[in-house]
Amino acid sequence: MTELATAPAQAPIAAESRFYNARLTRRVDLTESLAFMWVRFDGEPVMFEPGQYLTIGVESNGKLVQRPYSVASSARELHDGYEFYLRLVIAGTFTPLLWRLPVGHAMSMKGPKGKFVLEPDDDRIHVFISSGTGIAPFISMMKTLLADGVPRRAVVLHGASYEHDLGYRELLEAWQSEGTYPVTYIPTVSRPGTPQNSTWAGRVGRVESIVPAVYDELSLTPDNSIAYICGNPDMITAVDATLLGRGFPEAQVKKELYWPKGKEPRAAGVNVPQP
Ligand SMILES: Cc1cc2nc3c(=O)[nH]c(=O)nc-3n(C[C@H](O)[C@H](O)[C@H](O)COP(=O)(O)OP(=O)(O)OC[C@H]3O[C@@H](n4cnc5c(N)ncnc54)[C@H](O)[C@@H]3O)c2cc1C
Repeated sequence: MTELATAPAQAPIAAESRFYNARLTRRVDLTESLAFMWVRFDGEPVMFEPGQYLTIGVESNGKLVQRPYSVASSARELHDGYEFYLRLVIAGTFTPLLWRLPVGHAMSMKGPKGKFVLEPDDDRIHVFISSGTGIAPFISMMKTLLADGVPRRAVVLHGASYEHDLGYRELLEAWQSEGTYPVTYIPTVSRPGTPQNSTWAGRVGRVESIVPAVYDELSLTPDNSIAYICGNPDMITAVDATLLGRGFPEAQVKKELYWPKGKEPRAAGVNVPQP
């Protein structure tokens, strides 16, 4: 079996594998550790519901190394494959392999799966709260609703460490300013005062810390809104507690955790991700 040329310390990636049924077709880097990637099944595309995830992987040392990722693209546009918004976890297992993968390389892809999907026919304001790459499923939801001609009023709260980490910012700002989608976009950066955020004039603090003020300012209540939260577990726990404290029933706060609370990558501390 031929393997992708690697530096000695790097795990090999099999060029061919019985697991492979898909291909990395496109990649756009946002920063050194954030990228948009498109993966397409070799056969017919499979329908998904916005909010669901697929599990992608490569073979390394005879084993399939794979992880789940929320789809970010519209469920009505499958010809380019599924778009994913990914963070490189330097001390992680799969993403360092994925980051070395050239466009055109074969991969494994399974799914779709997941229950983090929109409620049917819900005309309440959709408050989409995320940290880091957790914004991905919300982009898919809004793109799909737009394609179906039934956009639902949304408030998007997105937290990142730095301004340049705010993936999909241009799209959301354009939707808001041009009125393409009825969205109020509220980004926040958690590390103000750093050189990377020197031009930032927006909100500051972790996304969970701005939730009470935003709910007050926009008069969001259990009667007029539903919350969807996605990203890191501490943020989700904090936002959940805030909303339950404001009288939201549990069923009106939908959650997708990207990893279990308290679990760090092998070499924790090497790559400190966005809170
Ligand atoms: C349903 C679901 C959907 C997901 N969708 C996405 C997605 O759209 N984009 C995405 O980047 N990740 C997503 N993830 C996380 C992804 O599956 C992997 O856990 C992540 O890419 C790290 O894999 P790894 O093998 O490199 O790290 P591992 O060796 O598995 O280490 C995992 C650790 O890395 C850290 N970590 C995991 N994900 C992230 C992240 N996104 N940002 C910062 N730190 C992280 C956590 O400390 C976690 O415990 C999703 C997870 C789930 C369960």
